[in-house]
Amino acid sequence: MSKKNIVIGAGFSGCTIANLIANTLNEKVLVIDKRNHIAGNSYDYRDHNGIMIHKYGSHIFHTSNEKVWSFIKQFSDFNQYMHKVIGIIDGIETNIPFNLNSLHDVFPHSLADKIERKLLKKYKYNTKVPIFEFQKQNDGDLKFLADYIYEKVFLYYTSKQWGINPENMESSVTARVPVYISKDNRYFQDKYQGIPLEGFTNLIENMLNHKNIKVELNTNFNDIDEKFDRIFYTGSIDEFFNYKFGVLPYRSVTFKFEEYNSEFYQNNSVINYPCNYDFTRIHEFKHYLKDKSPKTIIAKEYSSDFSLGGGIFGERYYPVLKEENILLYNKYLDLAKNLNSVRFLGRLGDYKYYDIDKAILRAINLFEEIKND
Ligand code: UDP
Repeated sequence: MSKKNIVIGAGFSGCTIANLIANTLNEKVLVIDKRNHIAGNSYDYRDHNGIMIHKYGSHIFHTSNEKVWSFIKQFSDFNQYMHKVIGIIDGIETNIPFNLNSLHDVFPHSLADKIERKLLKKYKYNTKVPIFEFQKQNDGDLKFLADYIYEKVFLYYTSKQWGINPENMESSVTARVPVYISKDNRYFQDKYQGIPLEGFTNLIENMLNHKNIKVELNTNFNDIDEKFDRIFYTGSIDEFFNYKFGVLPYRSVTFKFEEYNSEFYQNNSVINYPCNYDFTRIHEFKHYLKDKSPKTIIAKEYSSDFSLGGGIFGERYYPVLKEENILLYNKYLDLAKNLNSVRFLGRLGDYKYYDIDKAILRAINLFEEIKND
């Protein structure tokens, strides 16, 4: 018999599982979201200048997973945008991740050449080395380089972004941005990368555009009286259980949007400020889809702990992957084991630092698990 499904949260995770159930199982799915829009934190919109703004900060799609790519491209065409990040170190523009080209940006030529030769002797070309591994150097020049990169790229940026030193962070987080023994200046090396041509919101709209899917915005899970056979919850698990064991920590960010009367503010979509200012980075959105306008919109990004009471840091962005927090998450998950009909997924539901493609893959895998229930 056909089952009744509800998905809480209209971001990538929720909309992927909703689409698969509606399409493959031909079952009804109600998708609810407490916000007044779909697409979760990937929500974007065209502003009065015709510029596509990423309301919750830059989102760039990238994957090497064929399953994810063939799934997502059903809902939108993508441009061939390949993301690069510039970092300003002591006033000098260079590439993030720090790579072989960066050596020549920030050091005198003779020193850069010497260090480059030593790096290429030690590492295979195109090796990605997490900063904590890179710090284990015996050679004096390479140790100098490691200390330089640690301080100039990671130390202050990470303290701004997470409120703690990199040493106290789960190492997988800084490993997302390795030292890259390469001249490839791109942020990601995935086979497929790009921005959906009509934006992320449009892509998600297309995922939800199905006769079996109904969407209700401005709706909390508690507002729903109906009974469902399957519940997919992409919100934070502590909220689901009414904070019974305490609040699960997240980091939040906020954006200070500014409009300028010039075509461009900066020469790149994202510029990181690892050594200066109290914001971490500045986004300039018109680079993503090459939007034409005599004006430009930028957003300065500030970080803080997520605060449950709302306010400017009242949205959850990043799980804080410390052991004690993962234990707290698991305690909640144990409670969930008694509830057969409820599944948790997504960056919040799984308490994992997923990129978009990993969130989609998790939802596809969960669908495979439940489809014969
Ligand atoms: N990071 C850093 N300096 C940089 C860029 C990144 O220290 O210039 C560290 C920081 O701890 C950050 C992590 O690497 O949180 C992951 O960065 P990523 O760009 O993947 O973060 P996201 O874009 O997901 O916010």
